[in-house]
Amino acid sequence: MNVNLELKDPEWGKRAVDTIRNIAVEYKDEIDDCLKNGKLPLGSFRELGKQGLIGVVTPQELGGYGGSAPEYCLVTETIARHGLPSTQAQVQGQIWILIWGTPEQKTRYLPGMSAGTIVFSESISEPGAGSSLKNMQTTAKRDGDDWIINGKKIHINGGAACDVTVVFAMAEEGMTAFLVDTRLAGFRAEVTDPLGYRLALTADMYFDNVRVPNSAVLGAPGQAMATFLTTFNVSRLGNASELIGQARRALSDGIRYAKQRNVGDSKVTDFQGIQWTIADCYSALYGASAVRDHAANLVRQGKDHALESSIAKKLAIEAAEKSVNEVFSLVGSHGLYWDQPYGQILLDVKTLRVAGGSLEIMKNFIARQVLKDEQQRGLA
Ligand SMILES: Cc1cc2nc3c(=O)[nH]c(=O)nc-3n(C[C@H](O)[C@H](O)[C@H](O)COP(=O)(O)OP(=O)(O)OC[C@H]3O[C@@H](n4cnc5c(N)ncnc54)[C@H](O)[C@@H]3O)c2cc1C
Repeated sequence: MNVNLELKDPEWGKRAVDTIRNIAVEYKDEIDDCLKNGKLPLGSFRELGKQGLIGVVTPQELGGYGGSAPEYCLVTETIARHGLPSTQAQVQGQIWILIWGTPEQKTRYLPGMSAGTIVFSESISEPGAGSSLKNMQTTAKRDGDDWIINGKKIHINGGAACDVTVVFAMAEEGMTAFLVDTRLAGFRAEVTDPLGYRLALTADMYFDNVRVPNSAVLGAPGQAMATFLTTFNVSRLGNASELIGQARRALSDGIRYAKQRNVGDSKVTDFQGIQWTIADCYSALYGASAVRDHAANLVRQGKDHALESSIAKKLAIEAAEKSVNEVFSLVGSHGLYWDQPYGQILLDVKTLRVAGGSLEIMKNFIARQVLKDEQQRGLA
């Protein structure tokens, strides 16, 4: 829901929304099949790339659109609104490489990542490291001019389909990020079966003495926490946008059904109890969108946006959970089948409550900022 996104070119925004809607219609059969079977719908994914909708933040000279967070939010939300495969990791990867990559890494990866011909993933979480990265076990050891990576990563979106993955590992210098080609010897992915994010081909990733050159380091050795934070503060807006898109999908489909469903002599939407539910969900969604848009505009303006991005994700989780919980009051038993979207939306929203920084982690961060300086936060 675009309340106040400051787009570089609003006409481009309108075209992007129309194109995404058309891709969803054209590739409906592919999406249905991949949802059922837990596969990455490469046809629609590549079509998004071909139409310039994956490389939103990459500069034009490297094959992208040259936008910023407002374009990223608009596109990410619309993709979720129409049930297409998430491009979130792909955009996050672009941001990572744009900020921290060498010129060689930028020319090597960004054009293909923008086009969707290079699939990117993020290998951060481990069996013993999720919300906190303190106990990360994956290691990177120097060997001459190379590094040897060993470890296991879990829950990785696109893990079994990616061409390149950013791996976070502990080196002598501290946590270090590497861009790892998944064709290298010693790498293996095992597809898992998550409840949500069914189109992402989520996998566990094994790195068994994977040898990478020094040119694979992203940023500098020991700097991966800084790398992580610069990207995740923006990607929280991508998470918020996906949640807003999912909630819009649930509400619009639900309202369309409820408006024509007879209950005795009334339509479902004639009942005041239902109207108030719609008002509550819409208001929550509007508020979340307004904060998301404000945070995205701050990114475009080069201003600090860490607090606003976390508030946006928190409000978006709450609005999406509320909307998808309440929509069952609008659709009744009709909505409780797999040929309707609501069950999958519910599971996708639960996934986004946890993945990429959980609701609790957002609250911790917001509380720390408030407690640090109540006056600056407008409370005094
Ligand atoms: C489908 C799916 C896709 C994913 N994709 C990726 C991916 O592409 N790459 C990747 O690296 N990871 C990915 N993840 C992993 C995800 O980011 C982690 O699951 C997330 O960071 C939380 O870690 P955890 O599950 O280990 O929970 P834990 O860290 O074990 O936490 C358990 C619970 O405790 C809560 N908690 C933790 N700390 C606190 C605290 N201080 N105060 C209050 N509560 C707290 C958490 O919010 C959580 O609810 C994915 C997960 C899923 C399910």
